[in-house]
Amino acid sequence: MRPDLAVLTMSGLLDARPRVGYFCSGRKPGLMAVEEAHRLTVDTVKAVPVVVKGDTSIYDCIVAMFTEDTGTLFIVSEASYLEGVVSRKDLLKVAMGKGDLYKIPVRVVMTRVPNIVTIRGDESVYEAAHRLMEHEIDSLPVVEPETMNGKELLKVSGRFTKTTVTRIFVELGESSKPF
Ligand code: ADP
Repeated sequence: MRPDLAVLTMSGLLDARPRVGYFCSGRKPGLMAVEEAHRLTVDTVKAVPVVVKGDTSIYDCIVAMFTEDTGTLFIVSEASYLEGVVSRKDLLKVAMGKGDLYKIPVRVVMTRVPNIVTIRGDESVYEAAHRLMEHEIDSLPVVEPETMNGKELLKVSGRFTKTTVTRIFVELGESSKPF
């Protein structure tokens, strides 16, 4: 066993056989997933955003979460600029109260701009995943900033969620199975 090749054999990149010697195992480096996460941009993996207007009732938001199979809704203006975010637990909290779910508009309970954590489409998948963990949230609106009358507005172009990260991880795993 050549000690100078030990790291490569231990990592599985090199194999060694008696009388054959060292040869490339064909396995991809274990770091591939992380490298891909730095290389891939959010735009190439983002999902379609599920959006509602601020005057949508809590009841209709709950229905939208079921029918659209999502855990987070983005609240947008008529022109599709981000106004807020509402999560499953935000809606559960209101549903546990005594208010009329058909009458309360979602803008009353949403987390609102500028307190929304977002990601741009040209940022990396790694950065997006890092942001989800750092802020302990499930979902990021993918936004493109625009300036209008000296004010920054955020156009919503997608969503990046914990499911997105899991899907990418599984796809990378499929394409780099060792055997
Ligand atoms: P849940 O509340 O269903 O566990 P999250 O962990 O994503 O889902 O949300 C926790 C809280 O953070 C909620 O009050 C929600 O409104 C808020 N939130 C969710 N996503 C974001 C975001 N991208 N930026 C800021 N706040 C968010």
